[in-house]
Amino acid sequence: MTAPQTLPRYAYFNGTIVPFEQATVSVMTHALNYGTAVFGGLRGYWNEAEEQLFLFRPDDHFERLIQSASLLRMTLPHTPASLTETLRTLLQQEGYRENCYVRPLAYKASVMIGVRLHDVDDAFTMFALPFGQYVDNEEGLHVGFSAWRRVDDNAIPARGKIAGAYANSSLIKSDALLAGYDEALVLTQDGHLSESSAANVLLVRRGQLITPPVSADLLEGITRRTVLQLAQEELGLTVVERQIDRSEIYLADELLLCGTGVQIAAVTRVEHRRIGSGDMGSITRRLRDLYFDVVTGRVPRYRHWLTPVYRRETVQA
Ligand code: PMP
Repeated sequence: MTAPQTLPRYAYFNGTIVPFEQATVSVMTHALNYGTAVFGGLRGYWNEAEEQLFLFRPDDHFERLIQSASLLRMTLPHTPASLTETLRTLLQQEGYRENCYVRPLAYKASVMIGVRLHDVDDAFTMFALPFGQYVDNEEGLHVGFSAWRRVDDNAIPARGKIAGAYANSSLIKSDALLAGYDEALVLTQDGHLSESSAANVLLVRRGQLITPPVSADLLEGITRRTVLQLAQEELGLTVVERQIDRSEIYLADELLLCGTGVQIAAVTRVEHRRIGSGDMGSITRRLRDLYFDVVTGRVPRYRHWLTPVYRRETVQA
């Protein structure tokens, strides 16, 4: 994601919507100095036929944000429903008629020196910007194993989307890109597959869809949850959540990344080895097509995952 980004026009900041330029903090802000913030990332998908912007699973994203915040001893004065309403208002003001990305951020806002979580003021902000693809090549990524390990649950819990832990993700991502890869696979401290720098990982082997369990120091991805459900319900696949060895990845028939940013991307090469045929596999392709249909509102059965921004949805069959 190196392309210049269009800045938002507005931000939700200190309880109200303000021009984006006014949403600023002091250099002494606790979160900026110590990484004591938690964030989310969700997408809005533009459906041209319905002239509608659909938020994908906003309640689930905001629920995770609230849980991440509680790990850092923050209590947000918001519920998933109220945050979704705030986001709708913000997006109505932006007036986007294209895909966009939303970044809610809860942070330790006190202007102070002092490493701790208690007795520090919290604040919440949110903004949204137009957003297309996160990786250049969703058709076939080339990845390497990172020499960095994933942050351990007993160091910084990966289950919470904690800003400070993204120093770990940044080390992983930059070293992968600078070594010529598109992404990296990251192992836990005990050497099993965890996830990538900012996406969950799944593999297909002997017709099963296999992914590491939530106890493998990974973010409990909402796309991961979505893909596992779609794979079972729509493709009739057996889904297995279990520890994955490095060598199983080499032997996988298909390998894929999933996340809000990356969406669903095939991994076709791991270091010098081809995965499966070396092209996007058929299960990955079916999941990917289905996912795009679901997030843009073209599958009635999963419309309940979508919240329209511009008007109340009439009930669909
Ligand atoms: N793992 C990490 C480390 C991430 O940053 C993300 C992106 N939020 C994911 C996994 C995927 O999570 P989700 O599907 O909820 O976007």
